[in-house]
Amino acid sequence: MVKVLKFGGSSLADAEQFKKVAAIIKAEPERRYVVASAPGKRFSEDIKVTDMLYDCYKLVKANQSIDDAFALIENRYNGIINDLGIELDLQPEFDRIKNAIVHHAGRDYIASRGEYLNSMVLASFIGYDFIDAEEGIFFKDNGTLDTEKTNEELSAILENHTHAVIPGFYGVMPNGTIKTFSRGGSDITGSIVARAIKADIYENWTDVSGMLMADPRCVKDPKVIPVITYAELRELSYMGATVMHEDAIFPVREMGIPINIRNTNAPEDAGTMIVASVESNKVDTIITGVAGKTGFSVIAIEKDMMNSEVGFGKNVLEVLENYNICFEHLPSGIDTMSVVVNDHDFLPHRIAIVNDIMKRTKADAVNVYGGIALIAVVGRGMTGSKGTASRLFKAIAEGDINIRMIDQGSSELNIIVGVAEEDYVKALNAIYHEFVK
Ligand code: ASP
Repeated sequence: MVKVLKFGGSSLADAEQFKKVAAIIKAEPERRYVVASAPGKRFSEDIKVTDMLYDCYKLVKANQSIDDAFALIENRYNGIINDLGIELDLQPEFDRIKNAIVHHAGRDYIASRGEYLNSMVLASFIGYDFIDAEEGIFFKDNGTLDTEKTNEELSAILENHTHAVIPGFYGVMPNGTIKTFSRGGSDITGSIVARAIKADIYENWTDVSGMLMADPRCVKDPKVIPVITYAELRELSYMGATVMHEDAIFPVREMGIPINIRNTNAPEDAGTMIVASVESNKVDTIITGVAGKTGFSVIAIEKDMMNSEVGFGKNVLEVLENYNICFEHLPSGIDTMSVVVNDHDFLPHRIAIVNDIMKRTKADAVNVYGGIALIAVVGRGMTGSKGTASRLFKAIAEGDINIRMIDQGSSELNIIVGVAEEDYVKALNAIYHEFVK
């Protein structure tokens, strides 16, 4: 049995956190491969090392000295090393990195040094080997992960180390330069390592005890989701519920390796299990979670006899395509078609798009209704179960909330409702409390 563990920045922010991490790793002999983030925040106004590194990059660009900024970074690591009482001298590394930054090293290289150095510290503290991610994580020229090469070469490297720490967040381009994933990308590295070593489980250690059934900023004390499928997670994270990097599920998903979200500060908590599938009768609640977002508009297009006009939808969507806009939903009737779009992309082109749709489709009217919030009610427990929709709509109606749009995915995994933004929080609560007692 092999477990791959990833620790986020707050789990490795100072020596106290390092000690918790070491205790977690040592608690089980299967915990053999560890992916580390850069030191994160120790308190709310603190600055993550990754951000301090990005600052150095900016200073060099502005032809300013990085002496003070880089000294702060050295101090972060030296503080951890001293407090842990380990024999590790990172000075040669600091000198090399600082020199590279001053000589205009790439932005990604600079940002990646946070995880590089932190992984050296962790490896030294727990007595594991250090494997540089640039040895085994490869990107293609177009910037996407070279999945095959990575899997092949990383597997071979890991086979030669029974216990190792691997820095998260970055890999190497075909020309040898360092490239990072997007922010929070150490989650992806963890998943890639888990796949390469064919881990039995990928434990993602963070500072919360799992994924919550609803956003705690909107719903008071929501429960933790004990088990969620990859598909459900995709639906919820699309709507903004995040517990790890969205792309981190892909590498493990192919192999069906479960991900367990755990809390470094409460290791006794079981956390959330993210799995390929679960027997649908094994659900505690009908819904797994509810999540939503504000900032949508509905473009409502009316035209008599639209329904019998071949190519009408295509024309509308082509207009959106011309402005590089994806649509979210397409609820339609006989003489109306509505397109739900996000305001961020749509509003800058609003007038032009309405005009183009009018011209292209010869519609009778095109109206835009802004201020829409979308709520996704997600749950494998809804599949084939009767009465969920009626409970859902009744709960929303009893909350005195008008539903502006409804869309149920054909997988029956989710129901999307659109409400006015001012009703958003009220609707989330009504739904949550209807299904979670
Ligand atoms: N340190 C990087 C960031 O702050 C990557 C990570 O923590 O996953 O985004």
